[in-house]
Amino acid sequence: MVENYLPAPTYFILLLITITRLISTVGNKTEHLNNNSLLSSDLISRHNLLDDPESLESASRDFGNLVHHLPRAVFHPRSPQDIASLVKTSYESPVPFTISVRGQGHSTRGQAMARGGVVVDMRALREENNSNKKKNIRVIWREEGYYGDVGGEALWADVLREAAEMGVAPASWTDYLYLTVGGTLSNGGISGQSFKYGPQISIVHEMDVITGKGELVTCSSHTNSELFHAVLGGLGQFGIITRARIALHPAPKMVKWVRLLYNDFSAFTKDQERLISINGRKHNNNDNNDDNVALDYVEGMLLMHQGPINNWRSSFFPLADHPRIISLVTQHSILYCLELAKYYDEKSENNVDKEMQGLLEGLSYMPGFYYEKKVSYVEFLNRVRSGELKLQSQRQWDVPHPWLNLFIPKSQIMDFDSGVFKNIIFRRNITTGPVLIYPMNRSKWDKRMSASIPEEDIFYTVGFLHSSGFDNWKAFDAQNKEILKFCNDAGIKVKQYLPHYSTQEDWTKHFGPNKWRTFLERKLQFDPRMILSPGQRIFNKD
Ligand code: FAD
Repeated sequence: MVENYLPAPTYFILLLITITRLISTVGNKTEHLNNNSLLSSDLISRHNLLDDPESLESASRDFGNLVHHLPRAVFHPRSPQDIASLVKTSYESPVPFTISVRGQGHSTRGQAMARGGVVVDMRALREENNSNKKKNIRVIWREEGYYGDVGGEALWADVLREAAEMGVAPASWTDYLYLTVGGTLSNGGISGQSFKYGPQISIVHEMDVITGKGELVTCSSHTNSELFHAVLGGLGQFGIITRARIALHPAPKMVKWVRLLYNDFSAFTKDQERLISINGRKHNNNDNNDDNVALDYVEGMLLMHQGPINNWRSSFFPLADHPRIISLVTQHSILYCLELAKYYDEKSENNVDKEMQGLLEGLSYMPGFYYEKKVSYVEFLNRVRSGELKLQSQRQWDVPHPWLNLFIPKSQIMDFDSGVFKNIIFRRNITTGPVLIYPMNRSKWDKRMSASIPEEDIFYTVGFLHSSGFDNWKAFDAQNKEILKFCNDAGIKVKQYLPHYSTQEDWTKHFGPNKWRTFLERKLQFDPRMILSPGQRIFNKD
């Protein structure tokens, strides 16, 4: 840590001056590098970098399809040591070049790009491991329990497959599994399990990380803990994750999956909040096992007349019921769908229906609008894949995705509903993609980690997961900007998840003064030449 021997304000001002100078130096140098191609042909050949048009073009795209920045070169590493050596070369260069790791490139605003720098394509590491039959996912048993040692380049879908073969699985997931371990741990990794098990960053025991100095460091909450906490949720700013040790638990076999419809937002959120509070608490005095009575997954979404009731995230409602749901949506303009899941196996199979019934007692959903399915655990976790494959076959997957993901304090969610869902969205009346909304418990997040969340004990995540045409994405972008402006004007303390900001002021606000200060200190400590993840546009002008 930078030693703090000056009075806090003086120290902070000096730190800010240093950082501002560094940013402008790197910014200028990055431009210099862009213009003059300081990444020399010698360096390109020494590190076997690719600079053919096809490689550069594919590294200049991401899932968002809104931002395109050409790197100077692309790197296909064969080992973590290859990556460390590249970072070291940059760190020791008179003028460093920027380096971005590309997991799956499923960011939406160029976060994994490096204009004029080098993009490290982690897919190459996966392919290298596959061709050598070398496992980048190893399930290990120790006295304390199971854990998985997984490569930063591994896909969560592969982690699930390997772990489930051994009868175990991580407890916390994302909705979609074709994302890399390094990519989601750089953000948070959230889904309907987060209220109970925390985000994915909270299930990591240990990591191997390459810092911005090119050093390969093993870190955990006990060893090199500053780096460990910095990297988790750290937007790729402090190090490149090459291995993560993830907690694993016995995997359930089956899932009872339920959807309930509401026309009243207040009742919907009250029920969501009640359900996430049954978490590590007994449901009634006769229960001995807290875990058995709680749900394992709580999410929610909007159904609006601008969008279809089934979407790529999952098709759930039986066809025969579509007409009555659509007529209800027309009548109310907006419905709220609560989505729940409870895991079970052979031992708990006989009780699952009764337990679910107990959990749903007293909820205020619309009578007759209860839907359920029983599916395997793997099918449930991989529920988004079939929608993706369908869209891919229709060439609708690689379209622009002007997404907006927000965290909203519980105390302001009603204002958000009236100002955003019932005003901005209605008024603009553009076709929406899925809009997700579900609450999480702040207590499940470790405040030492870099991820920035609202101050309240319960906060909501709202995800506007739009797909658009190449000619109309700006209408969605304008809607997103209006939502952010509304929140700002109304004093709703939103934070972006998967953030993208263009000014230092916005980043400072995003983290809040204390966290921002820690973020700056950690940047100076672990990536002092501002080499890593320029596409986040925090310390680099990109
Ligand atoms: P990339 O987009 O490649 O990289 C993201 C950032 O992380 C970049 O800054 C990159 O440089 C950095 N990075 C990548 N790998 C590493 C590494 N090994 N070490 C250090 N830094 C690294 N998120 C959720 O939380 N929950 C969801 O349910 C969810 N669903 C999604 C569904 C879809 C269809 C999509 C497209 C995205 C979804 N996301 C979700 C968002 C997703 O978690 C982020 O976009 C994540 O960054 C994507 O991972 P990636 O492997 O593609 O990372």
